[in-house]
Amino acid sequence: MIITYPHAGDMHIALEVFFREMGVEAISPPPSTARTLALGARLAPEFICVPYKVLLGNLVEALELGADTVLTLGKPSGCRLGYYPRLQQAALRERGYAFRMYALPLMNGSAATAIWQVHRITGVPLRRILRGVALGLPVLRMLDELDRAAHYLRPRERTPGAASKIVRAAKARLREVCDAETLARIRRETFAALDAIPLDRTRAPLKIAILGEFYLVIDPFMSMDLEEELGRRGVEVERNIYLSQWLDFNMFLRALRVPETRTLERLAKPYLRRNISGDGLKSIGGTIRFAQAGYDGVLHLQSFTCAPELMASNIMPLVARDYAIPVLRLVFAEQSNRSGLLTRLEAFLDVLERRRNAQRNTPYATRTEL
Ligand code: SF4
Repeated sequence: MIITYPHAGDMHIALEVFFREMGVEAISPPPSTARTLALGARLAPEFICVPYKVLLGNLVEALELGADTVLTLGKPSGCRLGYYPRLQQAALRERGYAFRMYALPLMNGSAATAIWQVHRITGVPLRRILRGVALGLPVLRMLDELDRAAHYLRPRERTPGAASKIVRAAKARLREVCDAETLARIRRETFAALDAIPLDRTRAPLKIAILGEFYLVIDPFMSMDLEEELGRRGVEVERNIYLSQWLDFNMFLRALRVPETRTLERLAKPYLRRNISGDGLKSIGGTIRFAQAGYDGVLHLQSFTCAPELMASNIMPLVARDYAIPVLRLVFAEQSNRSGLLTRLEAFLDVLERRRNAQRNTPYATRTEL
């Protein structure tokens, strides 16, 4: 058995550690590229959302490398994610790929159900699976910590690209983690290197929140490296979803309806009385929360033809007006190109900069290119 899974941000790094610790052979798909999207688009219905196409392309590339078992997310849901496993399985089988596919109930299941399912699929004893979880989860948490550190450091570093370089190197090292000691050493060395980056602490970067559709927010390929691009332009970013937080919530805390979700629901209630599938409710509640926290603007990412985010984006102008926060909607599709994205970003940043200058009652000054 050679297991594979589609990409979701840096999740593959933690999964490689998890499966190695379990003693199960696993192949991550090659990094997503234009080829991946083209492969997926060729097998996908034309108007389906772009994450479906990229994920399908990931599976084609992994099956070509010899994988024979696919683990993916399953979610009975009003949005298309609920149909991903069946549709993708049918499309791949039609093209002659031989494999088995299992949809893990990570999005509305519990940790125990998912672990039991992995045990049934792989035949690995539960004790060994738990060892894999005990090593894979801290790796996932560190990956998120690295992203958070990069969000803070990029707009303040004196040498552009210093933080990104250290973070990239650390992520490559994390793929090789095989015990807790190695992980602790990588953590120590990486955060020491990040702490040593010379910063210009006089800068007061614009603060922008990124929220919207799950895959677009967490996956740099799908969002065209949006976070790094903003960091390069001197903007501090924050997102409303991190993989470890998402996993904790869906596997451990959903049943308890933790305060985080209750807060978002409460905030969104005046605009949205019922939950909508996908991340639409979180986009509304998240925008309000970021406005209250003093962010300068919000980027709302959505996939072309994505119903939940389309509903949210219809409500967003009201939220933006009531909470006086500029929101830029960015729609991603197969044909999206980076230059179009950069043009829109540039204009949005200028608006935010002027607005901030006006609020400070200072004469208008153009944004310094960093
Ligand atoms: S939330 Fe939207 S983009 Fe994401 S899977 Fe559902 S329909 Fe597709």
